[in-house]
Amino acid sequence: MAESEEERHLKLTGEFDCDPTPLSTLRHSTSHVMAQAVKRLFPDVKVAIGPAIDDGFYYDFAKAEPFTPEDLARIEKAMAEIVKADYVFERREMPRAEAIAYFRERGEPYKVEILEGLAADRVSLYTQGDFVDLCRGPHVRSTGEITVFKLLSSSGAYWRGDEKNVMLQRIYGTAWLTQDELDKYLWRLEEAKKRDHRKLGRELDLFVFHDVSPGAPFWLPAGMVIFRELERFWREVHDANGYLETSTPILVNKKLWEQSGHWEYYSENMFKLEVEEQTFSLKPMNCPESTYVYRHALRSYRDLPLRVAEIGRLHRNERSGTLTGLFRVRQITMDDAHIYCRPDQVQDEITGVLGLVRQFYKLFDLEPSFKLATRPEGYLGTAEQWDAAERALHEALKANGLAYEVKPGDGAFYGPKIDIHIEDVLGRDWQIATAQLDLTMLPERFDLTYVDADGHAKRPVAIHRAIFGSFERFIGILTEHFAGAFPVWLAPVQARVLPISEKFIDYARGVHQRLRAARIRVELDDRNEKLGYRIRDAQVRKVPYMLVVGGREAEQGTVSLRPRTGEDRGAVPLDRVVTELTAEIASRAVDLSVGRS
Ligand SMILES: [Zn+2]
Ligand SMILES: [Zn+2]
Repeated sequence: MAESEEERHLKLTGEFDCDPTPLSTLRHSTSHVMAQAVKRLFPDVKVAIGPAIDDGFYYDFAKAEPFTPEDLARIEKAMAEIVKADYVFERREMPRAEAIAYFRERGEPYKVEILEGLAADRVSLYTQGDFVDLCRGPHVRSTGEITVFKLLSSSGAYWRGDEKNVMLQRIYGTAWLTQDELDKYLWRLEEAKKRDHRKLGRELDLFVFHDVSPGAPFWLPAGMVIFRELERFWREVHDANGYLETSTPILVNKKLWEQSGHWEYYSENMFKLEVEEQTFSLKPMNCPESTYVYRHALRSYRDLPLRVAEIGRLHRNERSGTLTGLFRVRQITMDDAHIYCRPDQVQDEITGVLGLVRQFYKLFDLEPSFKLATRPEGYLGTAEQWDAAERALHEALKANGLAYEVKPGDGAFYGPKIDIHIEDVLGRDWQIATAQLDLTMLPERFDLTYVDADGHAKRPVAIHRAIFGSFERFIGILTEHFAGAFPVWLAPVQARVLPISEKFIDYARGVHQRLRAARIRVELDDRNEKLGYRIRDAQVRKVPYMLVVGGREAEQGTVSLRPRTGEDRGAVPLDRVVTELTAEIASRAVDLSVGRS
C-alpha cells in the first residue's frame, strides 16, 4: 500500500518484470528502446529502472541536467531509428555475481545496486543491438514490433522514490498497438490535465498543499463543504443500515501495534513519537482499536452482527517523493467500518456491504466493478474456514446480481476479500472500496469471543470494509470526474443571484434572503461589473444556477434562470425555483433540472 512504484517493481521482480500482458510487454520493451536511444545521445548518462506502468512506461536516468523538450524530440527520433533497425531482444542468463561484475565494468552503478539487493542466484539480461539491460522480461521479439509510441514528459524522480536518495531524471512515454488507440489516449490525457484536481482545487479554492505539511491538504471553506456533505450522506446511510459510529484515539502506544502485528509488518509506514519514555505512533489504520469497542462488553450470539463505523484520521509515512495531490497523502480520512459477526452471518453482511457500495456509487454516476480475491499460499486458518468464507463471498455477489472477476491467490493471508473498482468519465479505473473478511487476525490476536447459543465461547469473524476508501482520494476523483462541476448537493455555492444593475439590488437581496432561508448555499454578486462578466465568473466557478434579476423579474416575482451549462431556462417563478432546488438538493441528483419545462 505504502510502497512506491519503484519498490513494488524492484520487490516483485526479484529481477525486473512487468506483468506479461501484450500491452505491458510492448510498453516495457519500448522503455528499453528509449534507454538505448538515450545512451546513444548521452553516453555519460547512467540507467536506473524502466518499468511498464498503467498506460505507458518510464525510465529513470542519472543525468545532471534535466531533459529538455528538444531532448525528448531527439530521443524519439533515435527511437524510430532503433525500431527501424529491428534488433532482436536476446535473452541470456548468468550468475548474479557475474552480472554485478559486468555492470560494474560498464559503469552502471544503479544496476549494480539493484543486483546486490536481489536474492536470486541467477539473473537474466536482455540485449537489443548495442544496449544491454538487466531484466526478467518478457519482451516483444524485436524492436521492429514497436510502432506506435510517444514520449510525454520528463521530471525529476528520487532513486527508489526516497528523497534522501539522488534525484534522477525520469522520462515518461506511452506505447499502443494502433495509432487510433494512441490518439484516444492523448485526448484523454489532455482532458485529464484540464481536470487535474490539484489545478481545480486551487482554482475553485477547495484545498491547497503547503510544504509545511507535505501530503496533508489544507481544506479551504469551499472544499470543506464537499467534505461535510459527503460525511453527512455517509452518516445518513450508515445510520439507516444499523452501523454504530465510534471515534478512537489517533495517538496510540506501540503495545497495541505489537499485538496487532503492525509493528512487525508495517512499522516503517508509521509515524512514531516518544512520550514519557514510551513509544507511541499515529494510527495508520483503525482496525486494532475497533476491537476495544467489541471487547468493551461481553458479547452473546444475539448481539451480533456488531457494525462499528469510524471516520478516522489516519497517518501513513508515505515518502515525500511519492506524494501526489489528494491521490497519495500522508494524512488520510478513512470511512472505515468493522463488522463483527458469526460465521453464519457473513454472507448477509457482505450482501449488505455490496448493497451500500452500489447505493453510494450510483449517486455519482460511477460504475463499480467487483473482484473476488481468494486464498493465497501460506494462509492462516483452516481450509474449511476458507471454503465457507469464499463461498459466502461468491453467494453475496450473486445475491446482488453482480458480475465479478475472480483473482485466485490474491486474498490477504487472514481472509478473502472483494475489491471494488470504479470507472470514471475518462474511462480510468480506480480501486476504491474493499470488503475484507478476517478469519484470524483481529479475532485471534485480540482474543475476541462471543457466547454462542450452546453457552460456549466462539470466535466471531471480522469484516473490514471501506466505501469511499479515503475522503481525500475520493474527493480528488470526484473533482476530476465532474471536472469541478459538482452536483448541486455537493457544490460549495449552489446558486448565485445576479442583479442586472444596481436598480434591482433590493429585489436581488430579497431573492438571496429567500434562498438562504431555505438553507440553499447562495451568494449575491452585486459587484459593479457588467452582467456578462459576472455570468462568466459564475460559470468559471462552476456555480450550478445563476438567478438573473431585473425589472421584469422584480415585477413578476420571477428569476431568469441560467444553469452553468449555458442554457437559458427563461423566467421561472421564485417559489418554483426554491421548491425544485430544495428537492434537487435533497435527492442528491446529478442532473441540473430546476426550471426545466
Ligand atoms: Zn525489460
Ligand atoms: Zn480494518
